Amino acid sequence: TDACLKAIDTADALGAFVHKTPELAMGQAKSADDRIKAGGAPDLCGIPLGIKDLFCTKGVPSQAASAILNGFKPEYESTVTSQLFDAGAVMLGKLNMDEFAMGSSNETSTYGNAINPWRRGNDATALTPGGSSGGSAAAVAADLCLAATGTDTGGSIRQPAAFTGITGIKPTYGRCSRWGIVAFASSLDQAGPMTKDVRDAAIMLEAMCGHDPKDSTSADLPVPNFEAMLTGDIRGKTIGIPREYRMDGMPDAIETLWSEGRCMLEDAGAAIKDISLPHTKYALPTYYVIAPAEASSNLARYDGVRYGHRAKLAQGDGITDMYEKTRAEGFGPEVQRRVMVGTYVLSAGFYDAYYNRARKVRTLIKRDFEDVFAQGVDAILTPATPSAAFELGKKHVDPVEMYLNDVFTVTVNLAGLPGISVPTGVDSNGLPLGLQLIGRPWEEGDLLNTAYALE
Ligand code: GLN
Repeated sequence: TDACLKAIDTADALGAFVHKTPELAMGQAKSADDRIKAGGAPDLCGIPLGIKDLFCTKGVPSQAASAILNGFKPEYESTVTSQLFDAGAVMLGKLNMDEFAMGSSNETSTYGNAINPWRRGNDATALTPGGSSGGSAAAVAADLCLAATGTDTGGSIRQPAAFTGITGIKPTYGRCSRWGIVAFASSLDQAGPMTKDVRDAAIMLEAMCGHDPKDSTSADLPVPNFEAMLTGDIRGKTIGIPREYRMDGMPDAIETLWSEGRCMLEDAGAAIKDISLPHTKYALPTYYVIAPAEASSNLARYDGVRYGHRAKLAQGDGITDMYEKTRAEGFGPEVQRRVMVGTYVLSAGFYDAYYNRARKVRTLIKRDFEDVFAQGVDAILTPATPSAAFELGKKHVDPVEMYLNDVFTVTVNLAGLPGISVPTGVDSNGLPLGLQLIGRPWEEGDLLNTAYALE
């Protein structure tokens, strides 16, 4: 913990930590020492973690990287972080992210973006760590913490993991409680670990998941010992390669990585099967209707009364002025765009044409996966991202170009499935690249084991 706190102080330029909690960390570390001395402490005991700013942490600023939550210190602890602390984990501080987890580059953060510790060869140009869990990815990749929490609504764990050469798993929807995590799109949001390798992901995931009566979508299922399932034996497994993920203009490095991954799994004894997920091309537009719709509803609570920021009001201003001024000042441009899109697709005249249509297409996307799993496919291998980490400032100007970055990850959230990104190669500039494995619902153990064979 001490070493991490020192490393964090010398790495301020990365912008990974937005709030440091050294006293809390040292206190937790001391208790962890006592538990370890007493014997029988869990594996996570004394492990220093970074926590994404989307998690409510009791008495510690939790702002979802938004100005509208300025000064907000929750009175409660999220279920996931309290489970991690019960397992003895230490919190070093809160990590940077896109505002309300909306983004793929960490550039919508009110704190300014985190920076990817990786560079293109000797080129000093700063690159994005990805988003929205960009601070988590940068912190783990730069050894500022041993692991971090992330959340993933459309790829926010897997894409930054791929951009920074770390491992990130989004579990099945319902595995981790969403209670106490600031809501973005409630039917898509899931928490998960971002770690240096698959074994760490298995250990941390076990501590993060489990049934929580405070989240009505939390699954009442036993939590397996995921680490014990890492045998590396995948003989007899069938891995599907979906043809729709072969995009026009895909960089050679991604194409090569994908075929190398396929060979590695084949060498480890898995059977490879070409599969089709025919509705893939509708996933991005479906996601960018459903996610903003849910966000516009979730973000209605930021009214200038209950949380954080309230605009200064002029003489004679009424309650509507307070809402309007507070929300205009507190929400950044991307969040405002999502609220506008969301309220539009949910409005009486357009509900059927957009929101209801998107929900139906979502079902078709989910069925595509169910069909291939029914044909005996155990996991699906795809690239995690369409490119390596890109330059900061490059895509920020064009929202659609930014949204296209999520092309390989959003299907997994729409279908509620577990997905993992594993670092498996580098491009010609030496930048890390990741492959994604998508698993059957609730079979994170098998998924982690397949990823382990790829590592
Ligand atoms: N980049 C996607 C978005 O902006 C996904 C974000 C996420 O997973 N939180 O919505």
